[in-house]
This record gives sequence, structure tokens and C-alpha cells, in this order.
Amino acid sequence: MTETEYDVIVIGSGPGGLVCATLLQKRGTRVLLVEKNPMLGGKMISIEKDGWAYDLFPHGQVPMRGSAFEDVFAELGVSDEFLPSLEPDDPRDIITLAYRRHEWDEYRTVTQKQAMADPEPFFRLWQATDEEKEKTIAIMAEMATMPDEEIAKLDDITMKEWLDARDTPVPLYNYMGFHANASLAEPLDLVAASEQMTIMKQIMLQGGGGQYKGGFAMLTKVMAREFEANGGTIITGARVERILVENSRVTGVETKKGTFHAPVVVSSAGIHPTVLKLVGEEHFDKGYVDYVKGLVPGWAFTSVRYFLSKPVMDTAMYVVWSDDSWLDTERFARIKEGGEPDEVILFMVNHSFYDEHAAPPGKQVLVSGTVCSSNPEAGEIEALWKCMDRQMQELFPDIWDATERKEYNGPREISNLTRDSVMPGQGGECVGLAQIVGQCGSMKPKQELSIGGLFLSGADAGAAGMGTHQAALSGIEAARLVRLHLAKLIKAT
Ligand SMILES: Cc1cc2nc3c(=O)[nH]c(=O)nc-3n(C[C@H](O)[C@H](O)[C@H](O)COP(=O)(O)OP(=O)(O)OC[C@H]3O[C@@H](n4cnc5c(N)ncnc54)[C@H](O)[C@@H]3O)c2cc1C
Repeated sequence: MTETEYDVIVIGSGPGGLVCATLLQKRGTRVLLVEKNPMLGGKMISIEKDGWAYDLFPHGQVPMRGSAFEDVFAELGVSDEFLPSLEPDDPRDIITLAYRRHEWDEYRTVTQKQAMADPEPFFRLWQATDEEKEKTIAIMAEMATMPDEEIAKLDDITMKEWLDARDTPVPLYNYMGFHANASLAEPLDLVAASEQMTIMKQIMLQGGGGQYKGGFAMLTKVMAREFEANGGTIITGARVERILVENSRVTGVETKKGTFHAPVVVSSAGIHPTVLKLVGEEHFDKGYVDYVKGLVPGWAFTSVRYFLSKPVMDTAMYVVWSDDSWLDTERFARIKEGGEPDEVILFMVNHSFYDEHAAPPGKQVLVSGTVCSSNPEAGEIEALWKCMDRQMQELFPDIWDATERKEYNGPREISNLTRDSVMPGQGGECVGLAQIVGQCGSMKPKQELSIGGLFLSGADAGAAGMGTHQAALSGIEAARLVRLHLAKLIKAT
């Protein structure tokens, strides 16, 4: 192993990159973390500005107990700072569920404590018949008790196929369609049953929809502080332009702020940008390049942030769906062809509920989102914003009078902030890619690539589960693989 200033260079400071960098540095590896943005955090970023403090995108932690971040904080020796501001057993009413059955004119709502395994609020909302209740309980129990090894066998089956094989009651089927959109940014008829079931099981047994004081950036702040305290180096505002390769081994990275050398590079810039742009396809065999190009990007979320002069929402989260609003591939295609939707699904986070500093006194900030294409150039986004605004007004009649300012975001902004668009229709992914049948689980992209010393970390490679948790799990595994690789290099010299 040749002597360089760093053992490892990590590209990107979202959960995938930061977890990997922080754990490696804690274990005595010299790490340089390079981030293109002026701020750390990737998609998990939170903003503090003019008395407002909120996540840029609507985020909820699944699982609430036993998340990958809890393990990372434990290894860093800072478990006392792992302070979620919502717990699965929080006694308050936390979530408002709003739902419309196909034949109803209006949405109906119920509020509930954290859902966990209690289906009663859903039954009230659905006005479920005894038969629907019985079948729903049987299916949910099957999901909650399925061993992980059995779930892993469902990589090849879509969630739709799994539900179709069970005579699933209509309201449960439509809830699962909504859930595939809201939790995975995928359609029910493409998402692997293993991926969705992993998340459903965690919600039922460990809680879903966690949050932190200061938003998800609290996780970033603590990890980055520990990384630097342990001797790690962070350079922000330094986009990596190239990953340098010599004789089929990485040697470092080229950035606007200079060239840095290390025998290992871990990229969390996304598998498409990493392979096709930062390294270049000429360094890989054609079969692998074709495989990478064939990986399907997940959908994006467009979000609207409402800065309000007075509170309009009294729970922490609000989810809205109907039998007709969630998207499968067919409904999605209709919207893409210009068919303006009458209604969309909504997932909303009210930061003021769990953090008194989220808004100036007496005010409120709501971050609301709906699923959309990951294409930064997608033409349907404005129609979705219009629809979201209309629906918000129906749900909260006071909202326009109270709105001081709104911010609109879509796949273009997500891509600009995080992942370069290097293939048509790709870049704005909400979670990452490879969550669909035939691409996830045992078929998910591997983290160690054919070029010596090159690894992937983050939501594209190695793990399963909801976005931030999945990316952090991938970061933990990347740190393990890198340590093994470095040990082999040292032994070889
Ligand atoms: C609207 C929205 C809602 C979401 N809701 C949830 C939710 O409720 N729950 C949940 O768990 N997850 C949610 N997610 C998903 C979650 O945020 C992501 O899955 C997760 O952040 C992915 O982590 P990552 O580390 O793989 O990538 P990212 O967070 O995208 O981080 C990648 C980092 O790499 C940097 N980078 C990229 N290219 C370069 C380069 N060339 N040079 C230097 N740096 C570079 C980027 O700037 C970025 O900081 C949501 C995401 C969005 C957008």
C-alpha cells in the first residue's frame, strides 16, 4: 500500500456517505469526506433560516426503534444524544389519516397515536365490514410475523401479486397502493413484496414516522461532529469531477478544490453517476455497464413548504389517500401523458409538533409531498403542485389566509441538490433505485465493485428498508467491507 494522506475518500454526506465515513474514522481509518454542497446531509438536510427550522423534504423515520442510526450513535459512544422527538408509544394523537372510498363524495379523517399493530383506527376510517376486518387482520398478522428469511424469498414477486393471491379487502389493497407510493416512491405493481413487507413489518413492530428535534439534520450534526473530533477531514463545496483509476485500481478523486489521493474511494453519489460519469464506463466490462443502465430509478416526491402565520394542523403528520389517488404504472402513465389528476396522495409533516423552535412563536411550517417522476425535466410537476394546493385548501380551509410564503420543489431540485442526472429520466430519485422486482434484495447492486478499492454506499446498494435507514445500513456495511479491504492491502505490502 503506498503512503497517502488519506486511507479512504468518501464522496457525499447523505446518510450513506456520512455513516460510512464516521464509522471508519472512529475505527482508526483516516478519511476524507468530500461533499459538493456547502451543507452536509444530502436529502436528509434540514434548513434553519429566519426563525424557521425544518427538513427540506418531508421525512419520517422507519423503524422508530432499532434504526441503523441508533446503532451508529451507540458505536460512536453518543447514545445519550440519540433523542427522537417522537416515540412509538407517544401518548398524544400523532397522525391524521384522511381517506376517501371510491363511492364516497368526501374524505373522512381519524386521528391516532402511533399505529404500530393496532388496526382499529383504520377500520373506523374505512367503515370496514366484519369480513374486511377479519381478512385485514389475517393479512397484517402474516406480514408482521413473517420471518426475515421468508420475506427475503419475495424479491421476485410484486406486492400486487402477493396481495392478489390473498383475496385482499379493497380498502387494505388501496392502503398498500398508497403505502408503496409514500414509503418507497414506487408503484404497487412493480415494487418487490420483500421491500414493502420489510417496511410494513418494521412499522407494525418498531413504529413508523419517527422524527428528531432540529429535524433529520440532528443526525448529520452529531455524526459530522464525531467524525471531525476523531480526526476526519471534511471538504464542502467540492464536487468530485472524476474518480481516478490506474491499472484497474482507484487512486483518488479530482475535485474543483484539488486532487486527493487514497487507495479506497467510497461513493454515495448514486450508482448511475458513479459508474457512468465519475469513473466512466470504459473502466467496466460491458455486461456490468448494461446491468447498471438497466437499473430502474425509484420515483421522486414533489414537495410544497407552507410558511404559516398561524397553526392550521394539530397533529405531527397527515396522510391523505383515496381509492383513486395512489399511482400504479397505468395511472402514472396517464399523468405523464398530460392527464391532470383530480387528487393526489399527500404525506405532510408539521415540524412544530415535535420542535418548539421549528417556527417563530405562533407560526407553523408544513412540508407536504406527493409522488412523481424522478425525471428532472418532468413536465407534469406543475399540474401536481396545483392539485396539491387545491387539496390543501380543502383539508385546511384557513391555509391560504395563513400562508406567508410557499416553496415548491420537485425532481429537478432534488437532482440539483444531490444526484446528477446522467441517464434520461433519472436524477430526482427520492430513495434511490433497485427497489423493484428482480433488482432488490439478493439482486440489489453489490457494494464492492470490480475496480480495486471502489465501493458504493447509500440507498442504491446493499440494503433494504425505508430511505434514510436503508442508506445508513448500507453505510455500516460499506465501512465493514472497506476495513476488510484495507486489511488485505496492508497484508499484501
Ligand atoms: C422528498 C423526499 C422525501 C423523503 N422521505 C423520506 C422519509 O420519509 N423517510 C426516509 O427514511 N427517507 C426519505 N427520503 C429518502 C432519503 O432521504 C434518501 O433515501 C437518503 O437520503 C439517501 O441517502 P444517500 O446517502 O444514499 O444519498 P443522498 O442523501 O442523496 O446523499 C448523497 C450525497 O452525495 C453528494 N454528491 C453527489 N454527487 C457528488 C459529487 N460528484 N461530488 C461530491 N458530492 C456529491 C450529494 O450532494 C449528497 O449530499 C425522502 C427523500 C426525498 C427527496
